[in-house]
Amino acid sequence: MAAQILDGKSLAAQIRAEVKGKVAALAQRGIRPGLAVVLAGEDPASRVYVRNKVRACEETGVRSTLLELPASVSEGELLDTVTRLNSDRSVHGILVQLPLPRQVNAAKVLESVSPRKDVDGFHDANLGALLAGAPRIVPCTPAGVMRLLDYAKVPLAGRRAVVIGRSNIVGKPLALLLLQRDATVTVCHSKTAALETVAREADILVAAIGRAKLVGAAMVKPGACVIDVGVNRLPDGSLAGDVDYEAVRSVAGWITPVPGGVGPMTIAMLLENCVKAALEPEANK
Ligand code: NAP
Repeated sequence: MAAQILDGKSLAAQIRAEVKGKVAALAQRGIRPGLAVVLAGEDPASRVYVRNKVRACEETGVRSTLLELPASVSEGELLDTVTRLNSDRSVHGILVQLPLPRQVNAAKVLESVSPRKDVDGFHDANLGALLAGAPRIVPCTPAGVMRLLDYAKVPLAGRRAVVIGRSNIVGKPLALLLLQRDATVTVCHSKTAALETVAREADILVAAIGRAKLVGAAMVKPGACVIDVGVNRLPDGSLAGDVDYEAVRSVAGWITPVPGGVGPMTIAMLLENCVKAALEPEANK
C-alpha cells in the first residue's frame, strides 16, 4: 500500500492562518510582532529562503525588516548589527541567515543574539533549555517535524526513531524532541557503520543529511514514517530530498514530499516563534 503523504504545505497554511489571528489579537493590544532578518552575502539559496520568510511575515501581519550586508562584511560589523537589533524594541525576533561569509565566526554571531529574540532557537541558552527538557524557543525545522508527526498522529512513545544527521540546527535538536516524547532515539552520521541496517530498524526515520536520494527503499522498514528534511538541487535544476521518494513511498506508512513537506513547516514555526517572542513579558517594555 502506498504511504500516506504528510502534506506540510497544507498544515503550514493552517498554522499561518492561526498566526494571522494571533497577530490581529496582539494588534488590539498595540503590539505588532517584528522580525529582523540579517542576510550577509550573495548565496542564492539563502536569498530564496529569506524571500520566502519575509513573504510569510507580510502575509500574516508580522513586521519584517531585511538587513542586507555585503559578503565582505566583518565580524565586528555583524556583531554591531545584532547588538543594535537586540536593543530595538520594535524587533521581537532576530534571524541571522546561515551560512555566513567565511571571515565571520558564525557561532559567535549566533551567541550574540539575545536568547529572548532568538527565533531560530540556535542560541546555546535555547539549545540548553531543550537539552534540559524545558524547551523555550525550539529550532524551527525540528519543531515543524514534530508538528507534522503529531498532526498525522504518528505514535512516538516506545517507538524506535532514527535521525540521520547530527547538525546543531536539525539532527541534534530533533533527536532531543523525539526523546522527550519517549521515542527510543538513535542518531546517525557520516561515520555510522551499517547505516542501512540501523535505518531499517526505525519506526520513524528522519533524513537530515543533504545528499539527494540517499535513503532508498532498502533502508526503510515497511510501514515506517519517513521524514525528509533534505533539500538538494539536482543538476537539472529540480529539487530532491534525501529520500528516494518514488521508491520509498511504496514501502513507508507515511512520507513527506520535497518540496511541500518539512520546508513550509519550518517557515510556519518561525512565525509562531516570532509571536511567542513578542508575547514575552519583557518584550514590549
Ligand atoms: P549539515 O550541517 O551539513 O549536516 C548533515 C549531517 O548529515 C551531518 O551530521 C553529516 O554527518 C550527515 N551525513 C552526511 N553524509 C552522510 C552519509 N553519507 N551518511 C550518513 N550521514 C551523513 O546539514 P543540516 O544543516 O543539518 O541540513 C541537512 C539537510 O536538511 C540539508 O539538505 C539542508 O538543506 C536541509 N534543511 C532543510 C530545512 C527545511 O526547512 N526543509 C531546514 C534546514 C536544513 P557528519 O556530522 O559526520 O558530517
